[in-house]
Amino acid sequence: MEKQTIGELLKWGKKELRETGLRSPDLDAEVLLMEVLGVERLVLHVYPERVVEPGQHEAYEEGIRRRKAQEPLHYITGKKEFMGLDFHVEKGVLIPRGDTEVVVEAAIDTLKEIGKKKGFRDEELNLVEKAERRGELRALDIGVGSGAIAVSLLYYVKNLYMIGTDISPIPLKVTGINAKNHGVAHRLGLLEGSLFEALDRALPPEERTFDLIISNPPYISFEVKEDLDREVKDYEPEEALFAEDHGLFYYREIARRAPSYLKTKGYLVFEIGYDQGNDVRRILQQAGFSGVQILKDLENRDRVVMGKR
Ligand code: GLN
Repeated sequence: MEKQTIGELLKWGKKELRETGLRSPDLDAEVLLMEVLGVERLVLHVYPERVVEPGQHEAYEEGIRRRKAQEPLHYITGKKEFMGLDFHVEKGVLIPRGDTEVVVEAAIDTLKEIGKKKGFRDEELNLVEKAERRGELRALDIGVGSGAIAVSLLYYVKNLYMIGTDISPIPLKVTGINAKNHGVAHRLGLLEGSLFEALDRALPPEERTFDLIISNPPYISFEVKEDLDREVKDYEPEEALFAEDHGLFYYREIARRAPSYLKTKGYLVFEIGYDQGNDVRRILQQAGFSGVQILKDLENRDRVVMGKR
């Protein structure tokens, strides 16, 4: 293989991806080269004459080839930024969405409120040792996926302990990696199983109650499957995306059973699809939750429904 420079490879990669009709071909070509070389973007622009090693050259060609087949950029690079943290991602877990940060922020605020009512002062919410002495906060994430939600909550609320469940083994492995990378693995228990089933199996009833239950369940209706981007439809895990009952199946199941796993005044927090606000609000109300509210994402679409037991 002939020697090539950063500038030449970048020019070639951008041309290849432009032909594919991707949304941001130039940016994708740059990100793939940054990843292969392990450098910041500025290096690409300041040192275009730098010669790239043959191994890296091949790895870049492979990345461009995968991206041309519309594989999501983040599966190729193996990472995605979420809540200011780098998450490892791979095929088999949903790639964290920016919209989900709104769900995490709502949960952080709620956990800090609950913590204050338990008598923690602001600064103490950041001290694990105090939490252990005075009764920590406990939360459950149903369908942990990449761990974006659970690991961010644990990272930003230091006296929180969590259990995460998932029906597939890959998400549990990936969440474990992310929990370790961000130093929160000792406060997270992971269980394989559907919805509450794994909890019932693994824990005695008195340890099955939480201050908060959070979930970003599959919520896309099977009817709209064909309208989705190829990147999503062909590469992301179906079992994390689609649900029966016009996408409402898991909201009904979780809301119905959640009260027996929540402490009095514990919260249930859901991510929802932009057009599911009223339906999911009604589901929570019918399951006996009070103060049910809908919160919006940064594009002003309904994104979170939460209520109190
Ligand atoms: N928000 C995701 C999407 O638009 C779907 C996530 C989910 O079903 N939980 O692809």
